[in-house]
Amino acid sequence: MNSLETIDQSAMLPESLRADFPILSGDIINGHPLVFLDNAASTQRPRQVIDAIARVYERDYANVHRGIHTLSERSTEQYEEAREKVARFIGTANPQEVIFTQGTTGSINLVARSWGETNLRPGDEILTTVMEHHSNLVPWQQVTAKTGATLRHVPMTEDGQLDMEAFGELLNEQTKLVAVTSMSNTLGTVNPIAEIIAQAHAVGALVLVDAAQSVPHLPTDVAAWDCDFLAFSGHKMLGPSGVGILYGKEALLDAMPPFLGGGSMINEVCLDGFTPAELPAKFEAGTPPIVPAIAMSAAIDYLSAIGLEEIHRHEQALVKYAYEGLSQIDGLRILGPAPEYRSSLVSFAFEKIHAHEFAQVLNDQFGVAVRAGHHCTQPLHKLLGISASTRASFYLYNRPEEVDRLLEGITAVQKMFAPRGRKRRAQ
Ligand code: PMP
Repeated sequence: MNSLETIDQSAMLPESLRADFPILSGDIINGHPLVFLDNAASTQRPRQVIDAIARVYERDYANVHRGIHTLSERSTEQYEEAREKVARFIGTANPQEVIFTQGTTGSINLVARSWGETNLRPGDEILTTVMEHHSNLVPWQQVTAKTGATLRHVPMTEDGQLDMEAFGELLNEQTKLVAVTSMSNTLGTVNPIAEIIAQAHAVGALVLVDAAQSVPHLPTDVAAWDCDFLAFSGHKMLGPSGVGILYGKEALLDAMPPFLGGGSMINEVCLDGFTPAELPAKFEAGTPPIVPAIAMSAAIDYLSAIGLEEIHRHEQALVKYAYEGLSQIDGLRILGPAPEYRSSLVSFAFEKIHAHEFAQVLNDQFGVAVRAGHHCTQPLHKLLGISASTRASFYLYNRPEEVDRLLEGITAVQKMFAPRGRKRRAQ
């Protein structure tokens, strides 16, 4: 078992911040305190975010951009302030470039449908990678099928990093867009986004970054990266579900047709046509996720007060500690690269135990919540020669003792399932 001495204690955030998260002290699973290691799927919320939600509903709620009355003015003001906060958080000075969507999936579909269907022709190429979440694969499969463009995939190296040599070879004058994750939700690999963007721009291609996993854990700077589109979700960064962001360069968004039609996205409507509104309203048809957006800005305040660099250091230490502990367990295969090339999560597979069975026992008998399955990366799992894996993913509130609990649980569950052929016994 790991010894607490081997973790970089100086990188750890204060344990006291756990008190901000009611669910972490409230939830007991079969008598075990909750060890929540499923943060890559969705994180928990601090009191500050929960309070922000209650505050809007109790004091300020009305529909936005519509009423002349006080409550509508208040909620509109807070909704637009949230947009400004998101803009600053990801490194753009222009809030018009920030579109509220339902989440990463909504953001990517917006670009695929609006930009893709308008700009792609037979012969054009979209370049994505073998490590993408289905959200950054299926929309491109759909749009290439519709437009006759071709979808190609950047392979990865043996250790689960993007094969940058192959990327360079696949890029060509036909490449119109590179759609790539900044951090794999299965391998944990952090991809060299600035370099990918520079190379893509050199052949005239745009880049969409699926930043669902990196924005919550690493500093983001769309201006420094010269990023064209960036997509991420509120619920993976302490915010509520139902809200996400599409960042796009103003000139690109300006030139794109609206994706959804309805209220709010128009300038003028007559019976046989309409003129679209300016940015960002053009892409926010209907009533937007008002309260989730405002609460997402409270989550950004919380993260910013701690600092993304500090959060990253904390998670790096936990991941390294978990990686080292997992490496010592026989019959367990860690997916993806060494700790220095990854962030905040580690997935693994067993030769003889199915991930679902494993995760169930880990939950029921140890209170450890991990994710089991294909994590919406079926093609990647197929490439790895497995149908499912188990993923432990960390956030700022996780502690080294929780990694120990995971390792302890894994060892015990393995014993329960082995040796093969012997009747399994409940603990
Ligand atoms: N991309 C990545 C890399 C993800 O991890 C996820 C969430 N698992 C998504 C996209 C989709 O995010 P959402 O479900 O919030 O739209």
